Amino acid sequence: MIIYLDMDGVLTQCHMCALQFYGMNPDEYPRGMRVKDILAGAGITTKARYEDFWADFGEDFWDSLMPTDECDRLIRKCADLAGEGNVFIASRPTKNPQSFSGKMFWIYENLPEWIHNQVILLQHKELLANANTLLIDDNPTNCARFRTAGGQTIMFKRPWNDNDNMISTEWLGELVAAFEKAGDSPPAAMLSWE
Ligand SMILES: [Mg+2]
Repeated sequence: MIIYLDMDGVLTQCHMCALQFYGMNPDEYPRGMRVKDILAGAGITTKARYEDFWADFGEDFWDSLMPTDECDRLIRKCADLAGEGNVFIASRPTKNPQSFSGKMFWIYENLPEWIHNQVILLQHKELLANANTLLIDDNPTNCARFRTAGGQTIMFKRPWNDNDNMISTEWLGELVAAFEKAGDSPPAAMLSWE
């Protein structure tokens, strides 16, 4: 099975860092809201379109994002299950070309070398979908489109999506189940998150 890992919200604390960028407290992220709408509600930005909001962030922002608590374990667990050669980054760039270079610098600085050349920056992740693929992503729309195109998905738990109350062991169970559905049986030793 091929695993595609989303970056923002899964490997990087993109949303929290955007709040911090505008001087807001990321520890008080309200459930169910997009970061753009939180900032708009506080009168900090008036960008109407999601794409225009994220286009304001340049290379320095994308390059310096904090990794999530799960980042390292998630990369390792996926590599253990699928093999390093079968784990790819699939991330959506913004309208700002500096997001491309910033994301690549972040990958070079924060992720193991074996994945540095396994990066796909694209707008439509569903183009990668087939029965032997799994997308791990925090965005419900990305997950829905990927499933419609024939792939499997795990929606990563975050305050802005419906999986926020999922605990790590349940999440790992989904990962293992996805492998079994594709005809692979991961060793029992891999069922532990730690
Ligand atoms: Mg994301």
